[in-house]
Amino acid sequence: MFAFEEWHAALEMKLYLHRFIHQIHGLPDFSTLKFTRFNQYESLVLPLVTWLRERGVVFRYDTVVTDVDFEISQDSPEKQATSIHIIEAGESKRVDLTADDLLFMTIGSLTENSDDGDHGTPAKLNTGPAPAWDLWRRIAAKDKAFGNPDVFGAHIPETKWESATVTTLDPRIPRYIEKIAQRDPFSGKVVTGGIVSVMDSSWLMSWTVNRQPHFKKQPKDQIVVWVYGLFPEAVGDFVKKPMQECTGEEITQEWLFHLGVPVDEIPELAATGARTVPVMMPHVTAFFMPRTHTDRPAVVPEGAVNFAFIGQFAQSAQRDCIFTTEYSVRTPMEAVYTLLGVERGVPEVFNSTYDVRSLFKAVTFLRDGAEFKLPGGAPVRRFAHKHIENNVVGQLLQEFGLVE
Ligand SMILES: Cc1cc2nc3c(=O)[nH]c(=O)nc-3n(C[C@H](O)[C@H](O)[C@H](O)COP(=O)(O)OP(=O)(O)OC[C@H]3O[C@@H](n4cnc5c(N)ncnc54)[C@H](O)[C@@H]3O)c2cc1C
Repeated sequence: MFAFEEWHAALEMKLYLHRFIHQIHGLPDFSTLKFTRFNQYESLVLPLVTWLRERGVVFRYDTVVTDVDFEISQDSPEKQATSIHIIEAGESKRVDLTADDLLFMTIGSLTENSDDGDHGTPAKLNTGPAPAWDLWRRIAAKDKAFGNPDVFGAHIPETKWESATVTTLDPRIPRYIEKIAQRDPFSGKVVTGGIVSVMDSSWLMSWTVNRQPHFKKQPKDQIVVWVYGLFPEAVGDFVKKPMQECTGEEITQEWLFHLGVPVDEIPELAATGARTVPVMMPHVTAFFMPRTHTDRPAVVPEGAVNFAFIGQFAQSAQRDCIFTTEYSVRTPMEAVYTLLGVERGVPEVFNSTYDVRSLFKAVTFLRDGAEFKLPGGAPVRRFAHKHIENNVVGQLLQEFGLVE
């Protein structure tokens, strides 16, 4: 829930609360979060790509899918994808499909048109053509069951934020991190355990240090930090500029300021003590935009014989929520099982929202441990207590500290 902003959909927030109700008790110290050993590219993407290659999967890089043709007729409920239009290494091509070729399309993308700056250069906000969104726009124009991409992809001011990766080179900086995290950043164990939100930062800056080294080849004396700001157009507290206009060095200055580094040491430490890469992501929270049920197409639209929509902008029949890798795993499972008639259910998400113990525990932590004060005077309270003191409900309420 680290990326919700005030204008985003309350519905998604509600779905998150149901999906992760068992994590509420971990909010004070993020003790329930799980992390990969290294960064997600080395821990998840590379092993998966290697595994798939060994099984004959072919990845085609430098290739943009520009359009998909469908056979859709008024006389038949069936819909079939008939060809894919691509530009491969600058050359336009068409790949024809039969009813037996299966097409799984990722529509939209949170990282589309992301731009990297560097220590001396700000990241640019790219508002130009976005192939992932344009592909979905062309597809959506062909059938009303294929969703409304502009609900998500046409609101860059509401869906952008900026992040930055800081690599520390000077041993003084990790000491400031340790002061806040209360853990040695070089221990090889969890450091911040989640994000540290800087409550009084005008950029609404947060930062996190995962287990180090974060990259397999990272030198032992360096720490990799992830920083982001939800209000990149606000003027900074130390750097009197909006984050989106800042170089990596200036973002480092602002972060060091909020870490508590003495003001007169900041410019020198930011210039020589770290290397920072800012990244502007125009569409990163596109899926949080307010929507209606039909704005996301079904994973397998009614009548589809050989195609499916997968990823964050397809409407899963499962009880999962977006901005998660899991949603991008569940939607393809659903697509494959449905199109191929596999008699197997997609594994349900953890069912904690139906477990009364998880609900009580969440309530206890949301109330900071405060017991319920039963309304009314002493006779009413005695009456209520009498009715719960010797039964399972009363025992549970007591176990979770909700009544005396
Ligand atoms: C900063 C950040 C932090 C995150 N934190 C978490 C987290 O803590 N936990 C969590 O579970 N998830 C997290 N996520 C979300 C998660 O990473 C994504 O939801 C997931 O990676 C989406 O995967 P995907 O394959 O559906 O789509 P994408 O990763 O968007 O992949 C789509 C791919 O298709 C390509 N593509 C799109 N259109 C075309 C086209 N027309 N032609 C050719 N190629 C095309 C794109 O270039 C891209 O490579 C985070 C994401 C970000 C950006």
